[in-house]
Amino acid sequence: DIAASTIAFKGQFAREFPELAIPWRAEEAPDPQLLVLNQPLAVELGFDPGFLRSPEGVRLLIGNAIPEDATPVAQGYSGHQFGWYSPRLGDGRALLLGEVAGTDGKLRDIHLKGSGRTPFARNGDGQAAIGPMMREYIVSESMHALGVPTTRSLAVVATGRSVQRETLLPGAVLTRVASSHVRVGSFQYARASNDMELLRRLADHAIERHHPASDGEANRYLALLKSVISVQAQLVAQWMLVGFVHGVMNTDNMTVSGETIDYGPCAFMDGFDPGAVYSSIDEQGRYAYRNQPVVAEWNLARFAEALAPLIHEDEEQAVALAVEALGGFRQQYSDAWFSGMVAKLGLPEGIDDAVSSPLVDGLLGLIQEARADYTSFFRNLGKAARGDVEPTRGAVLDLAAFDEWLDRWRAAGPDADAMDRVNPVYIPRNHLVEEALAAASNGDLGPTVQLLEAISSPYVERPGLEKFAAPAPESFGPYRTFC
Ligand code: AMP
Ligand code: MG
Ligand code: MG
Repeated sequence: DIAASTIAFKGQFAREFPELAIPWRAEEAPDPQLLVLNQPLAVELGFDPGFLRSPEGVRLLIGNAIPEDATPVAQGYSGHQFGWYSPRLGDGRALLLGEVAGTDGKLRDIHLKGSGRTPFARNGDGQAAIGPMMREYIVSESMHALGVPTTRSLAVVATGRSVQRETLLPGAVLTRVASSHVRVGSFQYARASNDMELLRRLADHAIERHHPASDGEANRYLALLKSVISVQAQLVAQWMLVGFVHGVMNTDNMTVSGETIDYGPCAFMDGFDPGAVYSSIDEQGRYAYRNQPVVAEWNLARFAEALAPLIHEDEEQAVALAVEALGGFRQQYSDAWFSGMVAKLGLPEGIDDAVSSPLVDGLLGLIQEARADYTSFFRNLGKAARGDVEPTRGAVLDLAAFDEWLDRWRAAGPDADAMDRVNPVYIPRNHLVEEALAAASNGDLGPTVQLLEAISSPYVERPGLEKFAAPAPESFGPYRTFC
């Protein structure tokens, strides 16, 4: 029985923000089949994994069995999509089931994606196919294992519904876990409603839930802005360091918690190319790899605009304070990125910038020229620190320049073991993700299970997993992703 077998759903957001939450029900799935369950995460949240695997548990995972205390809602939010403002986006095919307090006592959202049309669906069908939901599961769990803040994935359940895309595809629901789903776009929605009491309540909620240190500050909403700027600067620096291209950095896809959200047309970069764009709809390259920090800063300016009336009652003063806060983004981003690069090169933390900076720039220039595989190059640099330079030498074009670089780098004293702790062996490589998704859509979960096994421990090289460390074969060709 569902009430006895599960943990409590709080329904806090639904209760506190009726203006931003429409009570709604998930569409009934004709034939729900559990495809993948994140057992460690289930346990962390206090769920009994055995129950979640049972027919009633699977129905809970897709919102077809609703605990008595739960109020599923579609959340409203606005957003700038590719620079254009849409006043009413919201959960078109998603629902917030409610919050649960994990074994650590922290509140986490349990959220559904692909659960049917909602009042925010516009022209969308409310559905999701197995492939894209499995991609989100794989990539978000990889990001978590890499140490990058992210929403998590608890399960993917096939619904037994067909979804019309270019062809008919099998449908699925992803059960997503997040420290919250409050987005920059949620603030834009509250601001656009012109209800200052609502805006204040949302800001207080974000402070309490994600940025409690802002609570004690004289100007707590300015402190909230600064804190969100900080977590986003750190987050995007980590994306850049692992070679992650989000692909659709609209303001509705940027959390206030600082977690990565919405794995749609995302990809990990293969060959190092600052201009890398994978999303088929990003024709201008707005969300190219190299643009991500600038876009984050632009999105944060939209957040500041939404918050402005809370920051100061005088508009000019609010703007001055917000602009000053936004000015902190670049420095924080650069510091985080640069110290991450120093760590990737295995250099000592206190090293003089005059030594480390030319080493970082020099190396990036060499791997860009050669389009060297980003992930394996850095991992192989650990081998070079141990004396085996051939894997890295084989990946660059200008050998004379690289040998000269190696001499300077070795003189700075790189620590190979420290490098192996920050340069992953296993990432969800595009060709393997595609292979896994295609197989999963045909009922074969084997490749997905193997890929998940490899990426769940990305920094520890293990025998038998060579395939997961190798770059894509030439025959894979240029990669394009679709939402
Ligand atoms: P995204 O680009 O994935 O962040 O989605 C942007 C907006 O489109 C959000 O409001 C989504 O809820 C909505 N959306 C995306 N796909 C669908 C769909 N198949 N049905 C209904 N709404 C959708
Ligand atoms: Mg989205
Ligand atoms: Mg999406």
